[in-house]
Formats: sequence, C-alpha cells, structure tokens
Amino acid sequence: MVEYREWKWFIEWQTPCEAHMHGIKKVIYSGKTKFQNVEILELYNYGKALILDGKLQSAVYDEAIYHEALVHPAMITHDNPERVLVIGGGEGATIREVLKHECVKSVTMVDLDREVVELSKKYLPELHKGAFDDQRVELVYADGRKYLEDKEDEFDIIIVDVTDPLEGGPSYKLYTLEFYRLAEKALKKDGIIVTQATSPSYMVYAYATILRTMASIFKYATPYYTFVPAFVSLWGFVAASHKYDVSKVDIGEVDSRIKKRIRGELKFYDGITHKKMMLIDKFTRSIMEKVDNIATDERPVFMPA
Ligand code: SAM
Repeated sequence: MVEYREWKWFIEWQTPCEAHMHGIKKVIYSGKTKFQNVEILELYNYGKALILDGKLQSAVYDEAIYHEALVHPAMITHDNPERVLVIGGGEGATIREVLKHECVKSVTMVDLDREVVELSKKYLPELHKGAFDDQRVELVYADGRKYLEDKEDEFDIIIVDVTDPLEGGPSYKLYTLEFYRLAEKALKKDGIIVTQATSPSYMVYAYATILRTMASIFKYATPYYTFVPAFVSLWGFVAASHKYDVSKVDIGEVDSRIKKRIRGELKFYDGITHKKMMLIDKFTRSIMEKVDNIATDERPVFMPA
C-alpha cells in the first residue's frame, strides 16, 4: 500500500455525486459553535484552511485569488468608495483587501459567529494579517440580514462574503430577493453590492439564480468568475448597481486606479485579470441563459450538497 493512501482525508461534497478530497497534514482545530461546525486544517496542497459545515472557505495557498476577486472589481469601479460594509468575512481577509484602498474611511464587518472570528484571529494570522486592528474597522456580531433592516442610504459598497446557501444553514436568506431589496435600501444611490455566488462549474443553476435575482432589482448585474485551485472549481461572483456596470472599466483604467488608490501588494488582480474575469465562456453562458429562476424567502436557492 502506498503511503498516501493511509493519510487522513478531508472530503468536500459538491453535489450528491461529486466530492473533492484533500490530504490532511494536521488537524489544528475541530469543534462546533452555536451556528456551525468549524475545522481548521493544514492541507498538504493548500496549507492552513478554514472549513465551515464541511465547506472549504479559504486556504492560505490561494486565498488571495478569491478575496481579491471578491473585493477589488467593485471597489475599483466605484469613483470614491469611502464607507464599506462586509457581511460575513469571518477570516478577516476580505476586510484586509478593502483596507488597501486609501479612500476607505470606515469598514463595518458584520459576522454572525464571534467564535469563527476569534478562532481566525488565533489560528489564521496569515489570512487577516492584522486587519482587525485597523482603526477604520468596526466589528459587529449579528445576522447580516437583520443588520440591514434599519439601514438607509449609508454604504458606497456592500460585500457579501457569507457561506454558501446550505439548506438549514445560517446564510441562505442572504441570497434572496428580500435580502437584495434591503441591501439596495442600505446602499447609497450610486452604491455597488458584490456577492460570492457559488460555483459556475458544479452549481451553475444556483449561480444563474443569484444573478437573475440581483438583476431583477438593479439596473446592472454583472456576473464574473475565476478558477480557485483549492475549490477545484471556477468560482462565481455578481456585482450589481444602479449606476455602475463593473464590466465596463477598461484594462488601462483599472491599472491606473490601482496605482492611484491601492496601498500594498496585489497577487492576483490587475486590469487584465479584471477584463478576463468578466468574459463568460459560451458553455456557461448558454446554460445560464436558460435559467429564469428568482430566489425568494419562500423559494430560496440551495446548494445541492
Ligand atoms: N469564502 C467563503 C466561501 O467560500 O463561502 C465565505 C467566507 S467567510 C468565513 C463566511 C462567514 O459568513 C462565516 O464567518 C460565517 O459565520 C458568516 N455568516 C454565515 N451566515 C451569516 C449571516 N446570516 N450573517 C452574517 N454572517 C454570516
């Protein structure tokens, strides 16, 4: 028997008939909070990784791809994003990216689960890199949707970085029409909302549903994606706004805004990457065009596994 067959494996189910296996070098933490199961593992291929309810959230090796793709297209497209709301974002890597923009005056991060944030602070400094200590950050422990209820005309950017919509999980009501209406109200008139939107590879129906739902409210709803090795998949995002079409900023303009506005290193995002992420291939487009479903509280969209 070859040695690796004896390893412990983290198996992440994507659909009832597809799963990905990652060799575990070390279990750093394993437990249960009031809201979800938490594991912090060291994986042979991807380094330290946060796993919630059996789903890989981010891994040190390539988290920059996911977090830069989530944060920068909307932030760079907006003319002057000063007030930013991050919903979810437990590991602190999303606020880390937001804080690289010099124009940002405040970032409010609203995560449901204090324990996930505390565990990330303790075990995953490679992800937050001290972002929680920045004077501009306000940390709130609450349900992101509840938090939005009394907010009006407050934010330039809302970034939704919550777990995938699992049936019975804490986040599926942050992918519905009712949620996006609250977000629209909380945004300033020219604000942009961006959300992680599951996988165009093995959940294109969920991805297209999130796009359609946002497009039913906002004038522009732009889908984009990139490959994330640790997710073994393309990963999808949608950015929406009444003023900005995120896909319309050209390569040179993205690069010049990065130079003017961003302090610190980017590992993934630049003008070419921005453009490339907005180009949806024909295969994915042709499936997405057939989906006209809208997610509501009564009929939410769920991950298949
Ligand atoms: N990158 C991620 C992924 O691949 O799904 C998301 C990362 S982040 C760790 C997800 C965070 O969303 C967790 O810290 C979780 O506590 C938070 N979360 C889940 N449901 C939430 C809700 N209803 N309101 C606020 N935060 C929520």
